[in-house]
Amino acid sequence: AAKEQGKSRYVRYVEEMDARAVEHARLGAELRRALAAGQLFLLYQPVVALPDGELSSLEALVRWHHPERGMVSPAQFIPVAERNGMIVEIGTWVLREACRQMADWRRRYGAAAPYRMAVNVSARQLREPEFAQAVADVLEETGLAPEDLLLEITETAVFDGGLALETVRAVRELGVGVALDDFGTGHSSLGLLRTCPVDALKVDKLFVDGVTGTVENSAIATSLAQIARALRLQAVAEGVETEAQAKRLYQLGYRLAQGFHFAPPLPAGDIGRRLAERAARGDGSDLFEPPAL
Ligand code: C2E
Ligand code: MG
Ligand code: MG
Ligand code: MG
Repeated sequence: AAKEQGKSRYVRYVEEMDARAVEHARLGAELRRALAAGQLFLLYQPVVALPDGELSSLEALVRWHHPERGMVSPAQFIPVAERNGMIVEIGTWVLREACRQMADWRRRYGAAAPYRMAVNVSARQLREPEFAQAVADVLEETGLAPEDLLLEITETAVFDGGLALETVRAVRELGVGVALDDFGTGHSSLGLLRTCPVDALKVDKLFVDGVTGTVENSAIATSLAQIARALRLQAVAEGVETEAQAKRLYQLGYRLAQGFHFAPPLPAGDIGRRLAERAARGDGSDLFEPPAL
């Protein structure tokens, strides 16, 4: 302990960083094997229509069931995968699996199936020159219609430049939807809306948390609803946890929401059962493309 105390703050800092780098390297190596070993799987979180809470679309969210560590969150392993390049392979797997599942639900349940499937795409994937072609290949392979797919990208990914903007345009050319995820938390939000052709904004939980508070706290969520309406974009409120928030969001003009208040991310089996019930009731025929605000 005396020796520990003797160490300079700098030495301790370096040791800590080394330990973290080692941990990242180990996680990275394990991740390489995880995909092949079938340890990755998808959950699907409903996006619902306000005010009734009817299922509108789904977002695919990846999970890693690690043999020793248990469930590892994507917030932990996606950044690791972005750094070691595994994200491209993982991202393609996620895209193919989500499209395969959505195509299956569309075939089984027709109009009672969700309106579309959202898939998260990382900055690194968007910088791949082959990305749009990979999307086209997956659609072809799975038989999914392009309008049944929505890609969620972040402002930062597009802002990073390079081919990202061209790639977004190429993907839209295919007929695939694009949403800006975590909208408002990046560093070019409003300017980007002029140059980047998207059809939906996912308003980050950070702003949704404030909607039941003071005028100041709800100001950004309020403005983003107005901007979405003016630009004819769908706006989805993310991370809705209470009835009060849902009510307030509806008053502010939001017609789509996602969050634990409605449903957590769910296994495919649970979603399939709900869809089968809905199809049996003959519901869903009223499910059309949700209007822009
Ligand atoms: P995201 O795309 O913004 O997804 C929303 C996250 O918020 C999900 O966390 C979801 O489970 C969580 N969430 C949903 N409703 C609520 C709520 O009411 N309260 C709270 N506190 N959280 C809520 P998750 O699944 O852990 O994913 C975290 C992030 O990891 C995602 O944020 C996304 O950026 C990334 N991610 C997840 N799956 C993928 C993937 O397949 N590819 C890529 N590139 N990134 C992914
Ligand atoms: Mg997302
Ligand atoms: Mg999000
Ligand atoms: Mg978010």
